[in-house]
Amino acid sequence: MVGESDLIQRYFRHATTARDDVILGIGDDCALLQPPIGQQLAVSMDTLVAGRHFVPDADPEDLGHKALAVSLSDLAAMGATPAWVTLSLTLPTADATWQAWLSCFIQGFSTLALSHQVQLVGGDTTCGPLSITVQAHGYVPPGQAVCRSGARINDAVYVSGTLGDAGLALSAQQGRYVPDTTAQACIQTRLDRPAPRVALGCALRQIAHAAIDVSDGLGADLRHLCTASGVGAQIQAQHLPLSAPVRTYVAQTRDWQLPIRAGDDYELLFTAARADQPRIQQIASDLAVPVTCIGEITAASAVVLTLPDGMTCPLDAGYDHFANSAALPCQR
Ligand code: ADP
Ligand code: MG
Repeated sequence: MVGESDLIQRYFRHATTARDDVILGIGDDCALLQPPIGQQLAVSMDTLVAGRHFVPDADPEDLGHKALAVSLSDLAAMGATPAWVTLSLTLPTADATWQAWLSCFIQGFSTLALSHQVQLVGGDTTCGPLSITVQAHGYVPPGQAVCRSGARINDAVYVSGTLGDAGLALSAQQGRYVPDTTAQACIQTRLDRPAPRVALGCALRQIAHAAIDVSDGLGADLRHLCTASGVGAQIQAQHLPLSAPVRTYVAQTRDWQLPIRAGDDYELLFTAARADQPRIQQIASDLAVPVTCIGEITAASAVVLTLPDGMTCPLDAGYDHFANSAALPCQR
């Protein structure tokens, strides 16, 4: 049976490339890090628990990617540049089966870390029910972090990428929907390997007034942003950016809840002055990340969705209560 220090040496010590600002990485009681002079540190932590956030037999390489991606997505939402991560893993055992699991997990983790020049600088490894915690550290120039609380009345509301793909993949995984093969491949990637919008988040510093990443679903996350900013929002369903598979699903089922309620998309939802629309479209085109204006910030306290047929649905009051119901409560 291998011990904790063997696991650390074998799987974590050289998992990611070395950064110049890591004075001391894995191996001592603490890592020693040199943040750029004058920058603020942005820190975020997320935990994924087997049976709650992923199925216990989920592909470990996907999990390694996703565990890091969700933390990097939080940094992206603040406009922070990622630098270092720590990883706390609770594994059922350290036997050959779990070592094979760990090897694949680290493969997925390292590949994404490399693409963002992030270094794994420490962590903890314990025995127990499978659980994965990643803490991400990034930096941001003072005063330039994009908070949830900065939305202003009349701001345009934007979202990156497309919405509902991860939710549709989950429906398919759970047997509630059967997409065709091409659609299945496209949405499955969105669920298993979300792409944190790091470059977009950094480019939006000093342009976006408020931002949040869409982890809980557009409705819930827009509500979080509006509550923090003390404003409301008006969203047009017909402007929501939908992939071909989600568009087909909505056309077939008339179920607008999916792109609004489904989580795990890890797109950026942000607000900005209307006058900055050309700058935002330039950034989107430079980064090859689609960005779509889906509505506006209002003085009302409500977050309201207007469906293509003119019906309006409040996305705030009681939203959580119908999280499992079949239909949105709509009014003409
Ligand atoms: P201590 O008991 O002093 O906390 P550990 O034996 O837990 O030390 O860890 C030894 C070194 O290995 C530390 O630098 C720690 O940060 C690192 N480490 C442990 N587990 C992980 C992990 N899952 N990922 C990355 N580094 C880890
Ligand atoms: Mg320890």
